[in-house]
Amino acid sequence: VQRSLVLVKPDGVRRGLSGEILRRIEAKGYTLVAVELREATEEILAAHYAEHEGKPFYAPLVEFMLSGPVLAVVIEGQRCIEGFRSLAGATDPTTAAPGTIRGDLGRDWGLAVQQNLVHGSDSEESAAREIGIWFPSL
Ligand code: ATP
Repeated sequence: VQRSLVLVKPDGVRRGLSGEILRRIEAKGYTLVAVELREATEEILAAHYAEHEGKPFYAPLVEFMLSGPVLAVVIEGQRCIEGFRSLAGATDPTTAAPGTIRGDLGRDWGLAVQQNLVHGSDSEESAAREIGIWFPSL
């Protein structure tokens, strides 16, 4: 059984979509292991987004992620890493498939960073790394 780190990003929390996103996760059959509303910090984001450092969208991404609280979530279930990414849909909310979180609920604000509602770990390795960053006690 896998675990994955999911974040409802500040746009999702601001728009009141945390419950809807958790509903979809639970409806899919995944278990909520940890759910915590919290403010990200520069340190946490530098670790979380280390692979993007130096990219043009990095600074706007960090600024966006600091713009309000995020809902940090650990989910558990059979193949939940791949499964949640499938629920989330493609990065760009305009082209994300209908039926997905980003496709149904995401909007393109025309900004330097895609405000695409959610993050989900993309491999077992990143899940372990990201859960360690956000929930060191798990
Ligand atoms: P996915 O891989 O499904 O896009 P992700 O959150 O893992 O999800 P990453 O490629 O790791 O995506 O990028 C991290 C975040 O940075 C994205 O979710 C998005 O908010 C932002 N981002 C990524 N690529 C771009 C881009 N080309 N332009 C603007 N923002 C971007």
